[in-house]
Amino acid sequence: MEVAYTEPEAKRQAARCLYCHIQTIYDPEKCVLCNRCVDICPEDCLKLVPLDQLGLEPQTKDKLLESAGLQGASPELLSAMIKDDEKCIRCGLCAIRCPTDAMTMEFFSYEDHQAVS
Ligand code: SF4
Ligand code: SF4
Repeated sequence: MEVAYTEPEAKRQAARCLYCHIQTIYDPEKCVLCNRCVDICPEDCLKLVPLDQLGLEPQTKDKLLESAGLQGASPELLSAMIKDDEKCIRCGLCAIRCPTDAMTMEFFSYEDHQAVS
């Protein structure tokens, strides 16, 4: 049996977020497109879609294929993993469910630097 928090308890728990910088990291080289991460995500923030559904401009699509070393590949045979990062609660279930470690939870942060001329 699962017991949910009461509303005041839930608010107290939510307020103690430690801002851990742990993020989902996706490695397409390891992904076997099994969809398990998509199925388990409680926030519906992951989706595997045919590349053609992204509605990319031809130049953008070419650049994407080039950066992935996939020049000449048929775009209709390719898939893309898309994620709504705003909805992700960093629960890690997608990484736990992934059979190939293509999805992992890792420390990730960045800093903005401005060039001074
Ligand atoms: S960490 Fe949780 S909420 Fe975020 S994508 Fe994975 S399963 Fe979904
Ligand atoms: S569970 Fe892992 S292997 Fe399966 S679609 Fe998700 S990232 Fe890819």
